[in-house]
Amino acid sequence: MTEKKRLLTGLQSSGALHIGNYFGSIKPFVDMYEGYESFLMVADYHALTSLKDPKLVQECIYNSVKDFVAAGVDPSKAVIFKQSDVQEHTELAWIFDCLVTVPFLELGHAYKDKVAKGLEANAGLFTYPMLMAADILLYDTVIVPVGEDQRQHIEYAREAAAKFNNTYGQTFIEPKEHIVKAVGTIPGTDGKKMSKSYGNTIPLFGTKEEIQKAVMSIVTDSSGQKPENVYAIHKLFRTEAELETLYAENAGKYKNLKDALVEDIENVIGPMREKRNSISNDDVKKILADGAAKAKAVASAKMEDVRQKVGVAI
Ligand code: ATP
Ligand code: MG
Repeated sequence: MTEKKRLLTGLQSSGALHIGNYFGSIKPFVDMYEGYESFLMVADYHALTSLKDPKLVQECIYNSVKDFVAAGVDPSKAVIFKQSDVQEHTELAWIFDCLVTVPFLELGHAYKDKVAKGLEANAGLFTYPMLMAADILLYDTVIVPVGEDQRQHIEYAREAAAKFNNTYGQTFIEPKEHIVKAVGTIPGTDGKKMSKSYGNTIPLFGTKEEIQKAVMSIVTDSSGQKPENVYAIHKLFRTEAELETLYAENAGKYKNLKDALVEDIENVIGPMREKRNSISNDDVKKILADGAAKAKAVASAKMEDVRQKVGVAI
């Protein structure tokens, strides 16, 4: 029997997951994870770059795992774990921080975008790509399903692997991103990238009323043929041919188009929301405990090798 290659992705537990997260990363993961030895990480240490309320941090961890399972990830077929349970992530990130330069990190788009959006320019946010490189490289991951906005961070992970390999000898695999081109970067209600930390989301598991409120607040620009931001989200739920007719019939009637979008979202989310309600906090604890043990076994072996290579193991 040939061993399966490893696949890993992570989502920050920095707020309620939104439809950008679903189509950019969770759905691609669900579509392919059974063909690999798959890891799905709750990036709770990454979330500390934006969250400072411990109660909220905890709540978001529980919610993330419930969202993953409700969206179709079977915990018996993927290792679902949280980053903070495997200390090797932060340990390896430090080693990468010592290999890359400040000017290299200054080229990061995500950091600049977040600071421009008013997020605090803390050092964790700045060095985030090296923690993400550690998340991926610790597991000899070959493929990382992510949204378009994370393309550069996978390049950074490859760069970290190459720097380490050149300095200390071959150790890490250079991973490849898996990005669904047709999804691209999904806009939020303000037309900017939909992000948990920007308050511009359509929540994946919100109530119908919450989804309705978010959809109604999508900014519409009447200069073009159709409301671009509504359309960009709508095309995730229907074929372009179907939308062609719908948008032609309702030209200029933005309220009708938004109502149709709410219905289309509801048809996809409704059944998942029901499943989500059946998952308890105890279920989450059990999933994460199992996942931590499995992830730790892989990461600690890799880190032993890294400590030897850099010379701290004496
Ligand atoms: P934060 O604001 O805390 O960075 P986020 O909403 O950007 O949160 P992440 O946890 O950073 O979410 O990203 C999780 C996954 O979702 C990544 O693979 C990312 O590429 C994808 N993703 C996030 N936002 C979008 C979007 N608007 N369109 C497509 N994919 C997205
Ligand atoms: Mg993000």
